Amino acid sequence: MKIAKNTVVTLHYKLSDAQDNLIEESQQPMVYLHGGYGATLPKIEEALNDHQAGYQVTIQVEPEDAFGEYDANLVKIEPRQALPDELEVGMQFEGAPDDPDDEDEIRIFTVTDIADDKVVLDGNHPLAGIALRFALNVVEVRAASEEEIAHQHVHGPHGHHHEDDDDDDNQFRTIQLQ
Ligand SMILES: [Zn+2]
Repeated sequence: MKIAKNTVVTLHYKLSDAQDNLIEESQQPMVYLHGGYGATLPKIEEALNDHQAGYQVTIQVEPEDAFGEYDANLVKIEPRQALPDELEVGMQFEGAPDDPDDEDEIRIFTVTDIADDKVVLDGNHPLAGIALRFALNVVEVRAASEEEIAHQHVHGPHGHHHEDDDDDDNQFRTIQLQ
């Protein structure tokens, strides 16, 4: 079966930077609903569209098509007491950016520095500003079920499980900054 809108694609991927330094290699295959549902980068969907199981390709995606250019305006300094007592570099929090133009947008901020009375939070995605190289290997293609199309996500093994929706967030303690 060819990859097209409303097919479920199973693939392995290897993510590197433009110098081929490995950033991440999939342990579990990635499974997503193809067709512009935002489950993966549009450039990945574009590269895979119309191909079938067994297809392998390596694509390079520029920052503007991946996680954005690095934006220094998304770095903010908060008073130490605004954050939990137990804090370490690398922890992530949800918050609204200071820029009033993006008021509605909730971002994930990563703690990048901790001083006695101040904490530096960076709202850029950890991969912002980096050209990314994806080595993709399509394992399986199947038609999505009607329910999957209605929900706009994949169900079943490696897909979305409604009963443990919150599990994804367990590695982070999240608070509302504003
Ligand atoms: Zn669902």
